[in-house]
Amino acid sequence: MITTLKQPTLRGYYGEFGGAFVPEMLFNNVEELRTNYLEIINSDSFKTEFDALLRDYVGRPTPLFEARRLSAKYGARIFLKREDLCHTGAHKINNTVGQIILAQRLGKTRIIAETGAGQHGVATATVCALVGLPCVVYMGAVDIARQAPNVARMRLLGAEVRPVHSGSKTLKDATNEAIRDWIANPVDTHYIIGSVVGPHPYPDLVARLQSVISEEIRTQLLAVTGSELPDCVVACVGGGSNAAGAFYHFLDEPTVRLVAVEAAGLGVHSGHSAATSVLGTPGVIHGSRTLLMQDRDGQITEPYSLSAGLDYPGIGPLHAYLGAVGRSEFVAATDAQALRAVGECARLEGIIPALETAHALAVLGDLNFKKTDVVVVNLSGRGDKDLDTYLKNMEGLEE
Ligand SMILES: *Cc1c(COP(=O)(O)O)cnc(C)c1O
Repeated sequence: MITTLKQPTLRGYYGEFGGAFVPEMLFNNVEELRTNYLEIINSDSFKTEFDALLRDYVGRPTPLFEARRLSAKYGARIFLKREDLCHTGAHKINNTVGQIILAQRLGKTRIIAETGAGQHGVATATVCALVGLPCVVYMGAVDIARQAPNVARMRLLGAEVRPVHSGSKTLKDATNEAIRDWIANPVDTHYIIGSVVGPHPYPDLVARLQSVISEEIRTQLLAVTGSELPDCVVACVGGGSNAAGAFYHFLDEPTVRLVAVEAAGLGVHSGHSAATSVLGTPGVIHGSRTLLMQDRDGQITEPYSLSAGLDYPGIGPLHAYLGAVGRSEFVAATDAQALRAVGECARLEGIIPALETAHALAVLGDLNFKKTDVVVVNLSGRGDKDLDTYLKNMEGLEE
């Protein structure tokens, strides 16, 4: 029986979503992780080491900033949770720091990861450099060509970036290669997955490691507003890790409205979108049962978003479940709306957000807030990596 929305069953199910659908040859790897992760990450010594690195290396706690000019514009008290100020510029480092400590405690001596836009690859290469473990990042050849700065960052950090030339040469092909590597190297290698996706226990593991975001929000809100609970939390969803982290400690607080924002691309029904909650149907992707964009034969439909971090054909099983039981609301923002929100946040608050993050900011006018509502927007990352895109779309950034 599920007594809390946070906790999947022993086999990783959130309602009908989740589980671990992996090839026979991967069973032992996943099982080793499943039977050990809770004991390790709940131990005092893990927590001590994790907290120290989050503080001294990542720069936590990140500020909770009351955005007065956005508040005036949207008629609510709007707070920005500043994950953009984390080392490497986004929330992804919270997860990789946690998983590298876990890997060491499992006795692993080699790390693999897959990356699409390169952000998770950079966060993984960073923590491998920190602890001195070799790191191989699988990346589609098309993505390597599109994301040259992040490829350079990973190499500078000492990681090996292995191009993948099969299939469409993008994220899903890189994932297949990473899985193949893990099958070939089951004893010494840990596979760091970058969002609340993949076979159990990854969705739960990553949600727990990212939950530091909502833990901090509660403490910070109490100091400023006198209550730990906001009226609403808004976060963008690619796989769903920053949203899971921002929602986590509010999941069992029914008065807190949770809003997950997907990328509508050129429009939800334009044929060029990544709005999985609307367009998706249940199926298995990357080892878990969840909502995904697929055709009638179960072939994955290519997602589209101008934002590389939201350009994913599925969502984590936790989010599929929260949506199905009505605990969270899904909304979507188009490329054009997100670009406008980038410009607005820059001009009104002096903060240039990542394009992914801007999707969360873009829906603030649609949520019918009351003036007294306390709203937290998870500012998942900074816009430096997107400057090229912003330069090419300067007109779109204006009002
Ligand atoms: C990767 C990324 C995302 C999307 O990933 P989630 O797992 O959905 O959080 C969102 N924002 C930023 C800044 C990212 O780098």
